[in-house]
Amino acid sequence: MTDVPGMPPHEQLMVGLTRLGQALRISSYRNAGPYRLSPLQADILTLLAGDPRPRRQSELTRTLASTAPTISDAVKTLTAKELVERRRDPADARAVTLTLTGAGRAEAERLVRLPEEFAEAMDTLTADDLAAMLRGASSMIRSLQDSKAIPVSRMCLTCDHFRPEAHPGTDRPHHCAFVDNAFGDAELRLDCPDHAEVAGPGQ
Ligand code: SF4
Repeated sequence: MTDVPGMPPHEQLMVGLTRLGQALRISSYRNAGPYRLSPLQADILTLLAGDPRPRRQSELTRTLASTAPTISDAVKTLTAKELVERRRDPADARAVTLTLTGAGRAEAERLVRLPEEFAEAMDTLTADDLAAMLRGASSMIRSLQDSKAIPVSRMCLTCDHFRPEAHPGTDRPHHCAFVDNAFGDAELRLDCPDHAEVAGPGQ
């Protein structure tokens, strides 16, 4: 069989990912909602909504690969819009923790709803395609994290509770020791509040 001339698959994939990134950016500007949130402000709300614990401002700076002044400005705007509350951390008087207000939680719930055009696009995928894309995205994110190109996120592939291929030959080959349950590629998590860092040597 002869190769189809043109770009190699890696480059084709980069073009595809860039197009999807563009579509996400356009969608997030269209989805700015009643509070006219910037994409960064929307990311902060959805991050806070994904975890019941109050989060430190420094943690958001790290997770979102941003700078302290940029996050601080975005948080000030969210506080002025009464979507986020800032409190002194009882464990460290110099640190600030952030929690969502009721309005902030409602807005975060609106933000995480899949925009209609993305729901329609995902409906065109088979269950196998979806699982393969999730597996591929998890592997690429892990590799980018390992090379420090992006900050570490709370995903299954970097979690101490993750037991890959613990049930070989089944359609749910992996195991989560936290909930003690088997799961398949289509259920791999990319941001899980129960994630536990793998302890390094000597820890
Ligand atoms: S705790 Fe969360 S991140 Fe860890 S293996 Fe279970 S589902 Fe995945």
